[in-house]
Amino acid sequence: MAKAITQRKDNYSQWYLDIVKRAGLADHSKVKGCMVIKPTGFAIWENMRDELDRMFKETGHVNAYFPLFIPKSFLSREAQHVEGFAKECAVITHHRLMNDPNGNGVVVDPDAKLEEELIVRPTSETIIWDTYKDWINSYRDLPLLINQWANVVRWEMRTRLFLRTTEFLWQEGHTAHATREEAMEEALQMQRVYAEFAEEYMAMPVVKGIKTANERFAGADETFTIEALMQDGKALQAGTSHFLGQNFAKAFDVKFLNKENQQEYVWATSWGVSTRLLGGLIMTHSDDDGLVIPPKLAPTQVVIVPIPKPGPEIGEAAEKVMKALRGRGIRVKFDDDEKNRPGFKFAEHEMKGIPVRIGIGKRDLEKGQVEIARRDTKEKTFVPIDEAAAYIENLLAEIQNNLFERAKQFRDDNITKVDNFDDFKEAVSGNGNAEIESWGGGFVSAHWDGTTETELKIKELTKATIRCIPLDNEKEEGQCVLTGKPSGQRVLFAKAY
Ligand code: AMP
Repeated sequence: MAKAITQRKDNYSQWYLDIVKRAGLADHSKVKGCMVIKPTGFAIWENMRDELDRMFKETGHVNAYFPLFIPKSFLSREAQHVEGFAKECAVITHHRLMNDPNGNGVVVDPDAKLEEELIVRPTSETIIWDTYKDWINSYRDLPLLINQWANVVRWEMRTRLFLRTTEFLWQEGHTAHATREEAMEEALQMQRVYAEFAEEYMAMPVVKGIKTANERFAGADETFTIEALMQDGKALQAGTSHFLGQNFAKAFDVKFLNKENQQEYVWATSWGVSTRLLGGLIMTHSDDDGLVIPPKLAPTQVVIVPIPKPGPEIGEAAEKVMKALRGRGIRVKFDDDEKNRPGFKFAEHEMKGIPVRIGIGKRDLEKGQVEIARRDTKEKTFVPIDEAAAYIENLLAEIQNNLFERAKQFRDDNITKVDNFDDFKEAVSGNGNAEIESWGGGFVSAHWDGTTETELKIKELTKATIRCIPLDNEKEEGQCVLTGKPSGQRVLFAKAY
């Protein structure tokens, strides 16, 4: 049998890497910071993409595609934006190679220098707003509700498979509106869509909140976020939706004629989620035996394993069960590979997170039953073969629900309220939890005086950042944990990925 993976309590990051590798989700590539997404990983991403795409279309959006390259001058049109992204840009300077005159392979042809250097898009606001200038003339052209599925490049210094890579896959919505109110409602709507996707499909509970000025997207007036808590007590920013005000419209001179026949700048939003969600999925549900995937996103929801090996009757029974499952829209596979023993297969399917396993053995067939095992709790039960499909349909819904409830319980159990800096330090140091060696401390709910200075000081002292100001926050008079200055509400701090 294959070697077990690292246990979470011993080394959480190694456990994460083991899962990514052993479940066949992704590999490191020869290009530093860039990953190869393998078929199983990509199949989960495709399922995420399909559901999100459906949700975007149901809220009135359409897809389009813009260039990978952005002229350097575009990026600098919006001052905050260029300041935020300048340090992470891949720049294209030449368009040709030539044989090295000294015989060392190929070199950049100095005569092929681009007149204007190009940036590989880190995000597409600039190229899209330059295009919107041609598309928007009057209020009749608004709103413009466009999304693109694409890859982007941000030259990240510290990378981790899925969570933070130099090149990543994502979607970016870019919308244009006639009024501030409408743009603000769009930004909030997309935060709700992300939260719904995270909770209903990924079974990952999230806090909806607002970013502080310091954590805001470069060029945004307001950033709305969904924040999740991973099993090691560290937070993950899972998706962001930005209210961009008129910043990009002003930078790219995008005006429209309003109903009163006056020229006005257009209001904007942008919003994105990325392949980071896969990292969040893994770290929300998986265990020491491998990946756990919520049924709604699992590429294979049910696997059938013959015991001890395939034979005609077992094959027939499997066909029958598969047909019944497929009739209910369930994704099922028959593992009739004769090279491996059932025990090996069980461990492999557990490692790969397949939500339900059906074992079909000769003796069970004589009794007219099959064995059904669920991945989340490892419980097994025998079910009459004719009832298996209906049973499994319910079971998949129950697993989906159980994963969400389990994760929500964990998240809620790991929000600590503190009222002074000693308690704050203690909470984020995570000394209270001995289970995971590198425990991050969970969310810490504390008063903050509202200044960037204090936020940065707390980060310097504890590595914890303000994840968000929760949208459903209650007003509460208190004192900043660091400075003691008055504060009207608590915010959520955490160490984050
Ligand atoms: P942003 O445009 O910066 O708001 O990013 C949109 C979303 O993309 C973020 O909320 C993250 O979830 C994700 N993201 C940002 N940077 C990376 C990265 N280097 N790798 C993977 N995902 C990322």
